[in-house]
Amino acid sequence: MKIFYEELLNWYYQNRRELPWREDPAPYHVWLSEIMLQQTRVEAAKGYYIRFLNSLPDIASLADSSEETCLKLWEGLGYYSRVRNLKRAAEEVMKSFGGNLPRTSAELRQLPGIGPYTSAAIASIAFGEKIPAVDGNLLRIFSRLAMYEENIRTPAALKKAVEYYTDLMPEESKNTQEENPCGSFNQALMDLGNAVCLPGTAPDCGNCPISEFCRIHMERPGSESDLPVIPAGKDKKEEHLTVFLIRSEDKTAVRKRPSRGLLAGLYEFPNTEGKLEPEEAVKWLREHSVEPLRIRRISDAEHIFTHKKWIMRGYEVITDPFCEGDIPFIMAAKEEIDDRYCIPSAFGAYLKWLLQEKRDALS
Ligand code: SF4
Repeated sequence: MKIFYEELLNWYYQNRRELPWREDPAPYHVWLSEIMLQQTRVEAAKGYYIRFLNSLPDIASLADSSEETCLKLWEGLGYYSRVRNLKRAAEEVMKSFGGNLPRTSAELRQLPGIGPYTSAAIASIAFGEKIPAVDGNLLRIFSRLAMYEENIRTPAALKKAVEYYTDLMPEESKNTQEENPCGSFNQALMDLGNAVCLPGTAPDCGNCPISEFCRIHMERPGSESDLPVIPAGKDKKEEHLTVFLIRSEDKTAVRKRPSRGLLAGLYEFPNTEGKLEPEEAVKWLREHSVEPLRIRRISDAEHIFTHKKWIMRGYEVITDPFCEGDIPFIMAAKEEIDDRYCIPSAFGAYLKWLLQEKRDALS
């Protein structure tokens, strides 16, 4: 009788993705990569991962770094609470664990920003713990393997998936330097979800190493994509914003966002709620002590958050030079904005417009 994990691991050893954090799965590397991958695609995370490690190569340097440095290294990745928690957790590891990441999922969960999935991923991949790391990919695969026909987005479904995979996992290896079957088991399922058991209508069952263990494939071939059951989501709330690129000589206005709430503490181009017409835009500018010499519409942009969508209208505003303190904004040269101020990707279209000196329509 074939054993599930043997089939899965054989496939993994021949087909695994080459990823920068897999080259040296030191605990800090695994931790950093898992935090980056929480809301970021693998391809997008690779470059950020390498840049972050080059600047902050270990937990001690992360703990000693400034928040501004961390935010700048994270600029464009979004969900900035991730990097703030990463730094807080590094400080905690230095203070309470002698600079070494704790080895068990239970201890890891005590650190800021590390929840059940991330703790399981780190504990299994870096330390060989026998614990499944169940994310959306593993839930999808579970629903098909076990023919789970209930709503997959519930705590009950997650609990069932964890139990299901725990039963199928190999035993923990004492020698994780040479082999780590539990870590490989989780990574194999991650790769399977990325390349074979794909969402929607795309599962490639003909090339699946575990198809003989898959209930829906064996019992209802052709209907694999009916699972998982996902309830229709609510539409995202739309918010309209008007964004100003206020420019004077070689400088552009930025300001710091409030220390609480969405994109807390990051920098942005001055903006206000609503879709302002030119006369309303000029009125808003004057209320903020900006007298435009010239104002013109630039193209709209959008940004999608987890629960809402920003629809932005842009204006370029040319003014006379300001004296410090004349206006409630920071006037910064483009290089300074690029090097020093962390502008989140919500404003990425306007940042790109500014940095590339593209004065034509935004894409
Ligand atoms: S047989 Fe098809 S549906 Fe089942 S796990 Fe493999 S790819 Fe997914």
